[in-house]
Amino acid sequence: MRQTDIVVIGGGIAGLSAAMRFGKRARVVVIERESALGYHSSGRSATFCHYGIGDATVRGMTAASRPFFEAPPERFVEGALSLAKPALFIATAELLGELRALEGEMARFTDTITRVGPAEMRDIVPVLKTGADGIVEGLLDTSGRKLDSDLLLQAYARAVRAGGGEVVTDAGAIAVRRDGARWIVETAGESLSAGIVVNAGGAWADAIAIDAGVRPLGLQPMRRTIIGFDPPPGLDIAAWPFTKTAGDEGFYMLPDAGRLLASPMDVTPTEPTDAQPEDYDVALAAWRVEEATTLEVGRVKTKWAGLRTFTADKVPTAGFAPDAPGFFWLAGQGGYGLQTAPAMALAAEALLFGDAWPEQLAAFGVRPEQVMPDRLFA
Ligand SMILES: Cc1cc2nc3c(=O)[nH]c(=O)nc-3n(C[C@H](O)[C@H](O)[C@H](O)COP(=O)(O)OP(=O)(O)OC[C@H]3O[C@@H](n4cnc5c(N)ncnc54)[C@H](O)[C@@H]3O)c2cc1C
Repeated sequence: MRQTDIVVIGGGIAGLSAAMRFGKRARVVVIERESALGYHSSGRSATFCHYGIGDATVRGMTAASRPFFEAPPERFVEGALSLAKPALFIATAELLGELRALEGEMARFTDTITRVGPAEMRDIVPVLKTGADGIVEGLLDTSGRKLDSDLLLQAYARAVRAGGGEVVTDAGAIAVRRDGARWIVETAGESLSAGIVVNAGGAWADAIAIDAGVRPLGLQPMRRTIIGFDPPPGLDIAAWPFTKTAGDEGFYMLPDAGRLLASPMDVTPTEPTDAQPEDYDVALAAWRVEEATTLEVGRVKTKWAGLRTFTADKVPTAGFAPDAPGFFWLAGQGGYGLQTAPAMALAAEALLFGDAWPEQLAAFGVRPEQVMPDRLFA
C-alpha cells in the first residue's frame, strides 16, 4: 500500500488546480479514471470567462480568478493563458428586464460594461437581427477573456509534477473506504493510503461519496451542447465577441479557430455519463442562431455535449464533509468551473489546511460559508 498525504480523485480543472496548491505543502497524488486529462467537462467547455453567469459568489470567484488568467505565475505556461475578448449580452424587447438586471449585477464587479444600441451592435456583429422585432439593446463587456482549457489542464498537471506530486491517468477509484484515521483509495493498479481524500470527481462526485459512505451533496449534472459551423465565405469573424442572450434561455455564439461555435444553452438533467449531443439540441442550436442572426448554419461541422454539475444553490463547493473526517469536497463547479478554478483552488487550500481566509477572495465578497458543504445540509 502506497502512503501519501492527499489523494485527489478527478483530473479535471477542479482537481488539478487545487492539487497544484496542495502540492506545495503536502505529498499529492491525483488519480484520473480516463486515459486523458480533461476528457469530461473540462475538455468540453466553451472556455470563456465572463461576468454574465452565476450569482454574486460566482462573480466574486470569477473576479478573484482573473489575475491568474491575465498574469499566470512565472514558468506556469509558455505564451498566453488567455486572450482578451469582449462579451456582448443581447436582448429583445421582452428580455430588456433581464438585461438591466444583468447590468446591475455585473456593475458590482467591473466598470468595463457599456450599453450598446442596434447600430453599434451591427458594427460589432454585423449579422445580428436588430430592430423593433429583434434585438433592441446590448451590453458590451470589454473584460471578457477566452481561455484555453487544454493549455490550462496541461500546465496545472505539469506544475503538480514539478512540485513533486503525481498525476496518474487510467486510474479510476474503484473503492474508497476509511481505515482508522486514514482513507484507502483502491484503483485497478494500486492501493493508496492518505490522511485526506479530495473528491473532485465532477459529475461523479456524489457517486464517489456514496461509495465511501459519505452523505452526498445532491449534485445534479446537466447536459449542454455545442455545435461548430463555418461562417459564410469572406466574412471575418475573428474579432466578434462572445455573444449571448440575456437570461437563461436563448443561445450563445463565439468565434473559435475560424469557425463559429454556438450553444442553445440547453440545461437537461442527466445521470453522470459520457455525454453525447442529441439531435434535438443540435437542431435547436442552429435554429436559435438563425432566429437571432442572418447566418445560415448549413452543415454542422462539429458537435459535442458535456455535463455542468450543480449544487442546489448553484455555487461550487469546497470543504471537509461534516460527516466524514478527512473527506474533502471539491465539486459542483456548474457552468463556470474553468473561470472560477484559480479562486476555488485558493479556497480549497485555505479550508484544507485550516488557513486564514484568503484576502483575494474576501475582497470580492466570497466567504467560506458560501462555499463550504455545510450550507447544503442545513
Ligand atoms: C458545453 C459546456 C460549456 C461550458 N462552458 C464553460 C465556460 O465557457 N467557462 C467555464 O468556466 N466553464 C464552462 N463550462 C463548465 C466547466 O467545463 C466545468 O465547470 C468544469 O470543467 C468542471 O470541472 P471538474 O474538474 O469539476 O469536472 P471534470 O472535468 O468532469 O473532471 C472530473 C474528472 O473526475 C474523473 N472521475 C470521475 N470519477 C472518478 C473516479 N472514480 N476515479 C478517478 N477519476 C474519476 C472524471 O473522469 C473527470 O475527468 C462548460 C461546460 C460545458 C459542458
